[in-house]
Amino acid sequence: MLLIGRLKVGPVVVPVLVDKELEGYGCYDSIPSPRIRINRLTGLEREMTLLHELLHVFSEHYGLRLSESSVRVLEQVVTQFVLDNPDCTRDWVNRVIESDQDKPIRLPVVAVPKEVTK
Ligand SMILES: [Zn+2]
Repeated sequence: MLLIGRLKVGPVVVPVLVDKELEGYGCYDSIPSPRIRINRLTGLEREMTLLHELLHVFSEHYGLRLSESSVRVLEQVVTQFVLDNPDCTRDWVNRVIESDQDKPIRLPVVAVPKEVTK
């Protein structure tokens, strides 16, 4: 297994490892200590798997009790939101990191499909 990084989630530090032997895309283990293992993945598949396993970490450490299906839906919804709104997402992340409260929020103007306006 190859350690590729550590993520801080509240008071917990979660190592992220690439595990070539892992069956499936990824896995979050809480015992004996928290760790995320992801299979040898690339591109969007890898990023979605990391998000998926992070949602399991959030669920466990903040008592959300998300089901596997809820985690899968959130993984898809958040990823699709980012893909549909890349500039907005990038700006939001930058504002959070910079904690720049004076920076105005710039939201894209998205065309509303006709069926929604009826
Ligand atoms: Zn899962």
